[in-house]
Amino acid sequence: MGLERGYVHVYTGNGKGKTSAALGLGLRAAGAGLRVCMVQFIKGARSSEVGSLAYIPNFVFVPYEKFVADYSKGNAEAAGKCLEYSREIVGSGSYDVVILDEINVAVGFGLVSLEEVLNLIKNKPKNLELVLTGRYAAKELVDLADIVTEMREVKHVFKKGVQARRGIDY
Ligand code: ATP
Ligand code: MG
Repeated sequence: MGLERGYVHVYTGNGKGKTSAALGLGLRAAGAGLRVCMVQFIKGARSSEVGSLAYIPNFVFVPYEKFVADYSKGNAEAAGKCLEYSREIVGSGSYDVVILDEINVAVGFGLVSLEEVLNLIKNKPKNLELVLTGRYAAKELVDLADIVTEMREVKHVFKKGVQARRGIDY
């Protein structure tokens, strides 16, 4: 069982909910028996969903930290390896849904090249659903994707000085 045809999603914008939406999509897919992998770009982004995902056998979580061999070499090397790994799993046929969380931010910071991300999308297997999240999605990415949602910040308690809360924000 798998998908007959896979599409490309983008969750971007400044409002809250991009990673949460991607996790929700992955949760639904896993419940339907689809094999899901979320690769999280950007150091330190890992949050409490790791605890929940441990209970879901066909939802694999791969944090950025897995690719940090040497912290003195900086972020670009690990981000590059993260992308290389993403390319491997996208091509492997081992997953039906691949989520590249915060990859737009990695592109925005110049840690991975937009060109390589676009090529990854263009070369993905036809039956793979691919989800890319993060602020600052490039126009070329938006043009190439099939389903694009922009989270727009209407209000957020951070503006009132409320600190990030574990289990809600991370
Ligand atoms: P979430 O992980 O809650 O779905 P997100 O993926 O949309 O949020 P990111 O851009 O990845 O948001 O931001 C990382 C952190 O900032 C998270 O803790 C998130 O809850 C919080 N955040 C998201 N949107 C806002 C906002 N508009 N103002 C302040 N903080 C925000
Ligand atoms: Mg996020």
